[in-house]
Amino acid sequence: MKEQKGRVPPPRAKKKLPRSFKDLTPSKHFNPRTFFYEMVWKAWLTPRSGQIVPPNFPKLSHGQLALTWIGHASFLAQFNDLNVLVDPNFANWLFLLKRVKRAGLRAEDLPPIDLVLLTHAHFDHFHKPSLRKLPASPKIAVMPWGMGDLAHDLGFDRIIELQWWESFTHKDWTVTLTPSKHWGARMIHDEHRGYGGFILEHQGRRIYHAGDSAYSHVFKEIGRKCPPEIALLPIGAYYPESFRRAHMGPDQAVKAFKDLKAQWLVPMHYGAFRLAFEDMDEPPRWLRELCQANGVSHHLMVLDEGMPVVFEKTERGKKGLQAVPVA
Ligand SMILES: [Zn+2]
Ligand SMILES: [Zn+2]
Repeated sequence: MKEQKGRVPPPRAKKKLPRSFKDLTPSKHFNPRTFFYEMVWKAWLTPRSGQIVPPNFPKLSHGQLALTWIGHASFLAQFNDLNVLVDPNFANWLFLLKRVKRAGLRAEDLPPIDLVLLTHAHFDHFHKPSLRKLPASPKIAVMPWGMGDLAHDLGFDRIIELQWWESFTHKDWTVTLTPSKHWGARMIHDEHRGYGGFILEHQGRRIYHAGDSAYSHVFKEIGRKCPPEIALLPIGAYYPESFRRAHMGPDQAVKAFKDLKAQWLVPMHYGAFRLAFEDMDEPPRWLRELCQANGVSHHLMVLDEGMPVVFEKTERGKKGLQAVPVA
């Protein structure tokens, strides 16, 4: 673990990972015009949907966990004594990419934030203008190795960098950085930056945010070492096939959910920004069908942006999973 400045060498990459968006794009399928039309222009023509309603955050007792999906990969996780943000992004635009569904919350409506988890430095996950807008409460940022320099002017009291499988404990909560199959460079030449997912443990609850990841053996490893209760898994940006070198489709998310031995599958990373060529509404539709076919529909919780849901604690293996939307 490393706090503040300095350089930590990244773990050696075992396999060749895609280094940039260009690497992911099969040029024989898409010429620049088609690419621009599909990825940028189509979104420009699409009116932005979604409404921001002032949030109704629940009053929680010890052991209760509320999750609010802000949209894309952004979540607010709340306990009675801890508020955590993961990959907060409230942007309507990412450069030329238009957000076609509004973020479910405004930064101004957030409760005081104690902890911000940042899975990697890609612009849709590590969004500096969004981070600057967070409430001024004292807060800790935890992120993979090689990213701390990006966060120094963003108002964090402490910046913690972790290597894969390293943990950081503060008060009575613990965060562990888990491996993922993705890449960390924000620009082109900053391949030293890390990437991963997070496991957050507090009050006997264990929640996992996978960040961006292709399907890999990592999910089985997590399922063996520390099976999460709730798995926040990306299901968008998987078409064409070559994109699956860095992202999962709903079919692989269901596999990952089983590997993880989780009790809840909460999908994310779809619906807001057009990052690949599948239809924007395909991922959740396909995921629902797959969960039905696999007999795990009662483990699926598709959240609406901005609507908190309280997840009650269930003993592992016991029936009666309960997650209640806050009216
Ligand atoms: Zn990414
Ligand atoms: Zn992403």
